[in-house]
Amino acid sequence: MRISVGTAGLYPRGMPVVDVHAHLEPRMLDVPHMIEQLDARGIDRVVLIPAMNDPLPHTPERLLRTVRWLMRSPLHPIVRAINAAVMTRSGDLKLGGQTYAIYRRPDNATVARVMRDHPARFLGWIFLNPLAGDGPDQLEEWRATPGFIGVKLHPHWHGWPIEAALPIARRCEELGLPILIHLGSGARGKWRVLTEACPRLRVLFAHCGMPHFQRMWHAIKDDPRLWVDVSSPYLDEPLVRDAIAVLGEDRVMYGTDAPYGFHRDDGSYDYGAIKQWVERAPASARGIDKMLGDNAGVLLGDARA
Ligand SMILES: [Zn+2]
Repeated sequence: MRISVGTAGLYPRGMPVVDVHAHLEPRMLDVPHMIEQLDARGIDRVVLIPAMNDPLPHTPERLLRTVRWLMRSPLHPIVRAINAAVMTRSGDLKLGGQTYAIYRRPDNATVARVMRDHPARFLGWIFLNPLAGDGPDQLEEWRATPGFIGVKLHPHWHGWPIEAALPIARRCEELGLPILIHLGSGARGKWRVLTEACPRLRVLFAHCGMPHFQRMWHAIKDDPRLWVDVSSPYLDEPLVRDAIAVLGEDRVMYGTDAPYGFHRDDGSYDYGAIKQWVERAPASARGIDKMLGDNAGVLLGDARA
């Protein structure tokens, strides 16, 4: 069953548009405003992730550009040192002399409530942290809740080596649930540990596989169970075009990382920014439909997307 809600906006389409990566962060964007924006931009469904950190100060575009360039260059190991320099010993973020908490246990119940209130609009990723003791039991606890479609993992900020997620990953593989993962560097970024231990597991790599980008795209391009999303202000349009050129339109999915980045002058979140990158991509109309929603349908199960 395909559900189509509010396809109004600049680019009306027949097929549902699905944002596969967004955060529930009412301190920056509350649900009524989010729905207003989604309607205005013709985004039918959103897969939500609970907030994992205190709201951060705005990152200047100049800094984003530099980090983006570094991550793609042979100097990319420097990014690991930069990341380490902004983490406190207790695993929080320290920016401009101020500490911002990273939550060990992001609150899945917040997403469950929003899915219950708006089942036609919102789905959810179950956020688990192996370092906080999450494993297959916590997955069982949440997967019974209607709307949760897979597991979100964040080894980069939660600070664990990929091996730590294998019990969760193996259970997801058995159940046919996908994993959305935001990789880090070093032991936190060894994605092959995951894909080799779980040869049937479907994995969506957040932010075009950041910080690995093209180093990963070339390695995964022939494996049809591995995808990337194009979310995050850490990416830009040329980078997304490069990802599509290597991976092809079947393996790239629209996502935003809302409400982070892309703020208008009045401070509101601009839901159109990343969607336009995909709409302008050098791909066929069919390919653009796939990236905006049909691929999500394949990943999440047609009945739910
Ligand atoms: Zn995110």
